[in-house]
Amino acid sequence: MIHHIPLRPPSRDFPADEWNIIEKGFHPEFLAQLETMLALGNGYLGMRGCPEEGGPNAENSTLLNGFYETSPIVYPEDAYGFAKTGQTIIGVTDSKIIKLFVDDEPFWLPNAKLLSYDRRLNLKSGTLDREILWETPAGKQVLITSRRLVSFANRHVAAISYRVTLLNAAASLVLSSEMTANEPSACTNANDPRQTRVVSGRVLHHETGYAKDRRIVLCHATEKSRLTLTCATDHSLETACSFAHKVSYSEDFGQVAFTIDARPDCPIHLTKYMVYHTSATASPEELCGRAEWTMDRIVNQGFLELLASQEQYLDDFWRRSDVRVRDVREDRTKRSTVEIQQAIRFNLFHILQASARAEDTGVPAKGLTGQAYEGHYFWDTEIYVLPFLIYTSPRIAKNLLTFRYKMLPQARARARQLGHHGAMFPWRTISGEEASAYYAAGTAQYHINADIMYALRKYVQATGDKAFLRDCGAEMLVETARLWLDLGFYSDMKGKQKFCINSVTGPDEYNTVVNNNAYTNLMARENLRYAAQTVQSLRATNQTAYDALARKTGLEPSEVDAWVRAAENMYVPYDEKLQIIPQDDSFLDREPWDFRNTPPDHYPLLLFYHPLNIYRKQVIKQADVVLAMFLLGDTFSLEFKKQNFEFYDPLTTGDSSLSSCVEAIIAAQIGNMEKALRYGVAALLMDLADVGGNVKDGCHIASMGGTWMMLTYGFGGMRDDDGTLSFWPRRAPEDNAILRFSVIYCSQKLEVEIGLEKVEYALREGECLTIRHEAAEIQLTRENPVAVRPVSRW
Ligand code: BGC
Repeated sequence: MIHHIPLRPPSRDFPADEWNIIEKGFHPEFLAQLETMLALGNGYLGMRGCPEEGGPNAENSTLLNGFYETSPIVYPEDAYGFAKTGQTIIGVTDSKIIKLFVDDEPFWLPNAKLLSYDRRLNLKSGTLDREILWETPAGKQVLITSRRLVSFANRHVAAISYRVTLLNAAASLVLSSEMTANEPSACTNANDPRQTRVVSGRVLHHETGYAKDRRIVLCHATEKSRLTLTCATDHSLETACSFAHKVSYSEDFGQVAFTIDARPDCPIHLTKYMVYHTSATASPEELCGRAEWTMDRIVNQGFLELLASQEQYLDDFWRRSDVRVRDVREDRTKRSTVEIQQAIRFNLFHILQASARAEDTGVPAKGLTGQAYEGHYFWDTEIYVLPFLIYTSPRIAKNLLTFRYKMLPQARARARQLGHHGAMFPWRTISGEEASAYYAAGTAQYHINADIMYALRKYVQATGDKAFLRDCGAEMLVETARLWLDLGFYSDMKGKQKFCINSVTGPDEYNTVVNNNAYTNLMARENLRYAAQTVQSLRATNQTAYDALARKTGLEPSEVDAWVRAAENMYVPYDEKLQIIPQDDSFLDREPWDFRNTPPDHYPLLLFYHPLNIYRKQVIKQADVVLAMFLLGDTFSLEFKKQNFEFYDPLTTGDSSLSSCVEAIIAAQIGNMEKALRYGVAALLMDLADVGGNVKDGCHIASMGGTWMMLTYGFGGMRDDDGTLSFWPRRAPEDNAILRFSVIYCSQKLEVEIGLEKVEYALREGECLTIRHEAAEIQLTRENPVAVRPVSRW
């Protein structure tokens, strides 16, 4: 079901464009949404799309991935094993402020007479560009153009090129470049559990600060998480007008103010460089030193070089990752081809911004575009974001899996705390410790362990990176398999000794702490199988590696037999009458939710109904069984998928943004093109048209990843369950869109174009690749790189 009406801002002011998100007029009513949409980031550093002038802002955060403060989670009724310490990403020093005064009049968007206004997120150059013509109350016309970037190549670096030209008069002008820390946060919880917890009081404690010429360095540290941050800014001003400057700073503030005698038609060009360094171990002095080295280097390079490397980085990214569409039928999608293309690229670009330089961290649910969900990492990364990265940027995918591997010690400790064997990854975290304050929709989501192992398998299959499997993956597999074996038990109640897993929560958070959640059991079975397979194969082929693994984990050969047995006997619920997989043991016994009498403005239900009202009804927040049907596609026949989709779809509210993309994939796979398009467009526009109604709080990075899966696995018919890349694209008779995408498989690049009558497979890089089209194998080689096959129709 889709409850929210997509936002349709006036197209005159927000014209569609394939490579830009354009805002043609200043719209204070969309301030918060645009801050999110136009945010810049590189996976380490993120800046919301607030104007340079320091306002107006809805939530002006600058965020550093993994830079958080802790606070106790207070439970009026505590219980054993509840997560005790909250972790909250915090806004850091805001360095992007450049205030402009003309004859002492501040340039302030809401009051300014704007003769023209153009702001755009440029997806090709990775910049936020702005061009404004302002007429001051005295009639002086001021042309302001700026370009802001957060560098992909230098993850500690951001820069702004800011130009001002007086067009029709001379004026005295001030450019005040500022940085401020500990600005009060605009984030409030406002009874929405998805928003961030507010960390009260001063969060950044001053350590040191100094200025050198036009450079200011401020260093702060957090009190409890003991993280240190240095933010430095430096400036260059080029103009033929005469000017002077003044520098001042205090604990939380820095300012370089240029006073300029501006002459008409004489451009003034300020370049502001911003550098961030963080550390859990370095002293403030050392960290300031690091920031200065980076600063020296980039000031020396200059803005144009930073811009060139940004464009180069994005050029490479789009060459690997672009998904192109042509001839979309607007009567069916209600959006033009250009709008659909824009949304696709916008989503892919934001995934890159959330993950590119996430080194030694995860990907927060909102990337670095907002503080909602406290900057935490969830299963979103492994199930929704990693597939795209695995197939287009495998190095980033590897970083993220390595980050999970480094979390193993805490995961082992958490398992011990809950009395389990093996390792138990946290449902939500930054530091590796569990931070979910509501165990029923948090810690109980054991499936995250299997989700991470699912992503590991996909990564290894698609990259052939056996070394990673040997050195890191195998250990995670052993520990997660142990967890499942410990968690489940053999029950006679379910027929002959079936392996059951009780008291868990599946992906659907509207049915919590249930027995035998089908998704969990199915994914746990995969986890156990893959663990057994990996260990057995290591033992057979690499005794040294096997011995090392056995030493590290204390593995006994008999354990592997127990995993195999549990997997073979895993209980997967089935309802004979309905011929579907019940979501869990009690789901079908529940009373159906009264959708008819639910007011349209009462979605998401979680904001309007007590959890108990929701839990006792047949109502679903997000795809659960339907997600399993997609992830484990091989396991189920088309007919069975259809049967399940038709049962679950009407019960699914889509109150989580993680739902539409999955519903679209299964709808496309079973040939329900009407639904596939409806869900597909909703997923594509989740952020760009604010379909979920909360884009102000940050982008839905998981849904963005889901849109890539929808295009490739859903509409493109891609399959990879059995280790061979295969395609089964099918068209509805009335459909005529052309879809083109590339994937990297075992270091070879394959380009797929699904046309009207034919599909073309082209090996663009690499020697030889075997794929399947429908059931038939195709060998693509350097000599014969292209194969064309007919597209089947429904
Ligand atoms: C969803 C979870 C998801 C989280 C963060 C919740 O609303 O139910 O599945 O992990 O948001 O995106």
